Amino acid sequence: MFAHPDSWPEPSTGSDPWTLLSHAAVTPPEGSVPIAPPLYQTAAFSAEDAEGFARMATTPMHEGFYTRYGNPTTRALERAVAALEGSTAAVATASGMGAITAVLLAFAGAGDHVVAQRLLYGGTTGLLTRLAPRLGITVDLVDQDDTAAFARAARPNTKLILLESPSNPLLRLTDLAGVAAFARDRGIVTMIDNTIATPLNQRPLGFGIDLVMHSATKYLSGHGDVSAGIVTGRADLVERVWHEAHLLGATPDPFASWLVLRGLRTLPMRVARQNATALAVARHLAAHPRITAVHYPGLDGHPQRDLARRQMPEGAGGLLSFEVAGGLDAAEAMMSRLRLIRRSASFGTPMTVAVHPAAMWSAMMTPDQLTLTGLPAGLIRLGLGFEDPAAIIADLDAALG
Ligand SMILES: *Cc1c(COP(=O)(O)O)cnc(C)c1O
Repeated sequence: MFAHPDSWPEPSTGSDPWTLLSHAAVTPPEGSVPIAPPLYQTAAFSAEDAEGFARMATTPMHEGFYTRYGNPTTRALERAVAALEGSTAAVATASGMGAITAVLLAFAGAGDHVVAQRLLYGGTTGLLTRLAPRLGITVDLVDQDDTAAFARAARPNTKLILLESPSNPLLRLTDLAGVAAFARDRGIVTMIDNTIATPLNQRPLGFGIDLVMHSATKYLSGHGDVSAGIVTGRADLVERVWHEAHLLGATPDPFASWLVLRGLRTLPMRVARQNATALAVARHLAAHPRITAVHYPGLDGHPQRDLARRQMPEGAGGLLSFEVAGGLDAAEAMMSRLRLIRRSASFGTPMTVAVHPAAMWSAMMTPDQLTLTGLPAGLIRLGLGFEDPAAIIADLDAALG
């Protein structure tokens, strides 16, 4: 009735369609290896014997037991990002927020204190201001420009320092070596959100930071088609993060890992292109009469240009923000006249995307709350894509009028 294809390894399962199809499997071709990483789209694995099964179940981060605990495709992604950041261990997560949440829970609990910089990705701010207090974790937010402020805010029960550099959406930098040196002395774990920089422009472990986290939804995957995150750093710290991530269910589906791994192969090309385009657009906007400020650490006039040269030697990244003269309404009018550039909250995508934070938040916040964020009402954040830089500049110029 059914012939056994060669790749179905278990002729002992018989030829009735029920049994045969239940055991259909892929066998790796003998003597050759695939040139693309195989996708292990499986929820779990089977073991030969009780001993092997018990070992898999109790080995942290095992990649052959249950996909929420680990998976070979996810492991390949973890190895690649760890190597890029100059580390040997990483844990991938279902999103950037999954990574940050797992880090918070791994190092802080009831009665503990966390210091974080004030300018952070909105989700991270939400985690620290809404979720952390419910868990009994207290948080102090400090100005990232003032390195000594981190030390001043630290208390005997401070367990974690959270950084983001460059930070959303004003592209301000934090002195990583400065914060890391003080934290090391005090035994406080440091984590940086390195999403905006990418591991090609900035390698924070080299400055003494303990853990590096990415929203792989952005540059690491690079095509705007997947949500994922990752944390890398010292193996013992990464293992503690994994213990929380797999309990939270924050580990990725194998296909998501596969998509990030696929995108990663072109990361150097994409980052080089986006660095160059961002610099060209930043320079153009800085000279535009309708723009009152451009925030991009690659610009010569940037107040932290020396720090940018030290921390981001290869380039300042593909994200910038600028302020339109005339505030909220003028910025919104410009946004609505863009034709090529699309309105989107993400970045690290093939197409250039823009977001007008004040307009986005005006639907969620009162005018007072909006003022409290400290963000200029005319601020627009631009995530550069792969288009011809001249086409991006022409779209911006036309929209500015
Ligand atoms: C997008 C983003 C996050 C959150 O990542 P998700 O994958 O959306 O959960 C965190 N930090 C920064 C800087 C981001 O841009």
